[in-house]
Amino acid sequence: MHYFDYRNNRMYCEDVSVSDIAQQVGTPFYLYSHATLRHHFLTFQNAFEGVSHLVCFSAKSNSNLAVLRLFATLGGGLDIVSGGELFRGLKAGIPPDRIVYSGVGKREDEIAYALESNILMFNVESFQELELINRSAARMKKKAPIALRINPDIDPGTHPYISTGLRANKFGLTMEAAVEAYKAANDLSHVEVIGISCHVGSQVTEVAPFVDAIAHIKDLIATLDTFGVSLTYLDLGGGLGITYDEEFPPHPSEYGRAILETLGHVPFTLILEPGRVIVGNAGILVTRVLYTKAGDGKDFVIVDSAMNDLARPSLYGAYHAIEPVVRRENGTTKADVVGPICESGDFFAKDRQIPRVQAGDLLAVMSAGAYGFTMSSNYNSRPRVAEVMVKEDRFYVVRARESYEDLIAGESIPPFL
Ligand SMILES: *Cc1c(COP(=O)(O)O)cnc(C)c1O
Repeated sequence: MHYFDYRNNRMYCEDVSVSDIAQQVGTPFYLYSHATLRHHFLTFQNAFEGVSHLVCFSAKSNSNLAVLRLFATLGGGLDIVSGGELFRGLKAGIPPDRIVYSGVGKREDEIAYALESNILMFNVESFQELELINRSAARMKKKAPIALRINPDIDPGTHPYISTGLRANKFGLTMEAAVEAYKAANDLSHVEVIGISCHVGSQVTEVAPFVDAIAHIKDLIATLDTFGVSLTYLDLGGGLGITYDEEFPPHPSEYGRAILETLGHVPFTLILEPGRVIVGNAGILVTRVLYTKAGDGKDFVIVDSAMNDLARPSLYGAYHAIEPVVRRENGTTKADVVGPICESGDFFAKDRQIPRVQAGDLLAVMSAGAYGFTMSSNYNSRPRVAEVMVKEDRFYVVRARESYEDLIAGESIPPFL
């Protein structure tokens, strides 16, 4: 569910008209609904009611400070994959003891920063990383809390680019390597083994892959037990999908129930790392039609937003619904909705039946709250767009639109030129 709907044929975000925001902020911009974000977070949180757990929101899906602050106030933690995300999380007020650090390529300076910040744990993805964390912690006279990330070899049935829990993927340690790694970790003087983690993939629309992964992990935990390794945290990653088009992903309560049933009695604190399911449908990208032109058997609708603002359609062929901000009785047309960038891959929709529009009209690219702004770039020297949050009848610019000066910040021309 979300709080974007129509009143008198005009799209509203909660109690604010989307065209009014466009008038004041200009286009394009990302628009987030505070009530939707809050509702999604609490719904997810409640799915694990009754068991000790921590919801570590996945920063890479949406790392705006205002969004992170909201989750911090609701008791949330953060799943980070870089020093930059740690910086954002701390700035947003996420307590460091609610931050978990995943990722196959943690740099030494990033490890030091996380150790110095006293994060909850590192999700370690290789032997070499384990050794580097141990050395860094020794140098800082600390003990690094760690979990090992297991690759459960599960096919989540999603796009190959967003599946992460297959043997062929770069993520985590294989089940066999994991036993060796736990033994090795137990012998290291400056790491403290406190958990186990996995993450099967993203935009998963069934419970089966999660349930299968848990079955594998339970076996591993039993094996570890026989070696005297006992754990406090069980981190099940993120990956629950949302409806972009006609997908029917399980409701978070169904997902929670399936997980808890499969786990049975667990003496662990569960960690969940949801991203998309919390923010995906809580945000839209608002763009203005610049031109329309007739093509071969279809129209082209050229808008002022592009693949640098929202990469998912070009990157994964992802579907995003496109809705008019003002509904008119104009009929529909088959069109490609494209941006101004000089690439054929710069499109939001292809051969899509959409309401007939004209230059100046506003369109909403729906379900753009996850992996939208965070994946945006300055390609074609396009300043990154503004981000706006609505709460009830007011809106707040939570990231200003970049200026031309921002585009060249940090660049310099050497004196020999
Ligand atoms: C990307 C990622 C997540 C979040 O995935 P969603 O599909 O957005 O829920 C969680 N954990 C890890 C380790 C990730 O890489």
